[in-house]
Amino acid sequence: MSKPSLYGLTLDALSQWLMERGHRKFRAGQVWDYLYRKRVVSIDEMAEVHADCTALLNEHFTVGTLTEHTRQESADGTIKFLFRLVDGNLIETVLMRHKFGLSVCVTTQVGCNIGCSFCASGLLAKSRDLSAAEVVEQIMKVQLHLDQSGGDERVTHIVVMGIGEPFDNYENMADFITIVKDHKGLAIGPRHITVSTSGLAGKIKEFADNDLSVNLAVSLHAPNNELRTRIMKINKAIPIEKLMEAIDYYLEKTNRRITIEYILLKDVNDRVEHALELAELMRDRSRLVNVNLIPYNPVDEHSQYQRSEQASITAFYDTMKKQGISCSVRLEHGTDIDAACGQLRSKQIKREDSAGNTG
Ligand code: SF4
Repeated sequence: MSKPSLYGLTLDALSQWLMERGHRKFRAGQVWDYLYRKRVVSIDEMAEVHADCTALLNEHFTVGTLTEHTRQESADGTIKFLFRLVDGNLIETVLMRHKFGLSVCVTTQVGCNIGCSFCASGLLAKSRDLSAAEVVEQIMKVQLHLDQSGGDERVTHIVVMGIGEPFDNYENMADFITIVKDHKGLAIGPRHITVSTSGLAGKIKEFADNDLSVNLAVSLHAPNNELRTRIMKINKAIPIEKLMEAIDYYLEKTNRRITIEYILLKDVNDRVEHALELAELMRDRSRLVNVNLIPYNPVDEHSQYQRSEQASITAFYDTMKKQGISCSVRLEHGTDIDAACGQLRSKQIKREDSAGNTG
């Protein structure tokens, strides 16, 4: 069996692990510095850490477990990475360039059980949760790529919006956040981290209670239950009323702005009447809500959905604004590569299935 990765330990957990084995607390800080500041890729490179300590670490841990399988670069600087996990599964990670910095979109599960009808990722049922280490390592792999590119670029923002439902892997997601925002390590500011959920109401409340101080985005995608159940089957179990109650709980508890994600699907949910209905739904919470409109990226697997016309996107946006609801249209990245979430991974899996190769 392969050894676990050091990336899965919070600084507190690493300190405790070392102290329980007779090492002093400051050793954990040294190891942490090698991992996240000097960004070594093996324990043997931790030259200033006492040899007894590195020998012990080598016995129980490794640094990373992911291997890069494919990299697709877009003309706008977006890079899609496909990583192979130790068990052979593939996951996708995306680096995006913005005016405000570099953001990385991470995956939290192999496949997804939520089954949103427009999503390339949701076609493949969840086979397992990612460990905290596997999520942290996605950031590290991207950062190492930037380091090797010769500049001094840093990952400044993280969006937990890749394949999987992060709240269905809550503990590992929470450890991941604790690790990447630790000011002695990567020190990604909590306000620069956004976790996106399909709307697991109970976990939204738990997230509010835990208060990891990061941002929350909720995928709504429809202004009423009939339409939302058609697009997202999770709505059968957690209808809009229940979701809104959880959102209100979160807003009251944290007083922090929330993003409502709304994917625009041509002639499905993109008409002015839908915008009016959505504005009505947001009305009582508009002070702390921003609606993010996402023009749909068509994928072969979901030919029933098309991209909205530009005129419909503009009309939807204008209606929200006129209704006094804060609203934005998501800028697109990597449209010349497999831009939709999960697209690169599902293509590779199909190739491997037809070649009879899963490893
Ligand atoms: S959109 Fe997100 S939650 Fe929905 S099926 Fe895809 S990965 Fe899962």
